[in-house]
Amino acid sequence: MVASLIITEIYASVQGESSYAGIPCTFVRLTGCPLRCRWCDTAYGFSGGTEMDLDAILSRITELGLPLVELTGGEPLAQQNCALLAERLLAMGHRVLIETGGSEDVGVLPPKTHIIMDIKCPGSLMQERNLWANLDRLKPTDEIKMVVADRADFDWALKIISDHQLTSRFNVLLSPAFGLLQPKDLAEWMVAEKLNARLNLQQHKYIWHPRAKGV
Ligand code: SF4
Repeated sequence: MVASLIITEIYASVQGESSYAGIPCTFVRLTGCPLRCRWCDTAYGFSGGTEMDLDAILSRITELGLPLVELTGGEPLAQQNCALLAERLLAMGHRVLIETGGSEDVGVLPPKTHIIMDIKCPGSLMQERNLWANLDRLKPTDEIKMVVADRADFDWALKIISDHQLTSRFNVLLSPAFGLLQPKDLAEWMVAEKLNARLNLQQHKYIWHPRAKGV
């Protein structure tokens, strides 16, 4: 049987987040997500999509011609063949980033992928879905992202960072929930707490219209 995935979109843009922010990148958005974060900005990827076999996906990525590729969603790990796509991309010499919501087992991914995993704060309303065992499956080079909607989320994030010693184990990114928390507030809180983490703004929302798709 030919391996396939349900895909919402494949496009080239500039990586907007993480330690790769600013680098041209091909995005492969896999359709579907088991979570429903309150502030989700990709709800258009929850359903629909087009079934594509792996060869067709790889050929489109090759046409776009960028060495950096991100598998995102939705929740990419909700589709079983995501790990296979990552393996094929690595074999072709691509740098492969995976952006995951943190509710699925990241242990299925090939070790050479670079994982950016969310820990869901209470303001997302998805806190119960954090799969804490994933923290022991990540590599020191992987990244943890926490989207902060308000001061209560920030205080919760501080406690989680401290309880799990996250900043000495991984790169930690804190993002203001777009439209809910001003970046300036989060920046000032991080400085006041002397936090060894990165303020993670979604560059694409400042370069293009915040609701633009495919950028
Ligand atoms: S995990 Fe990501 S795609 Fe899924 S609901 Fe949350 S923000 Fe949206």
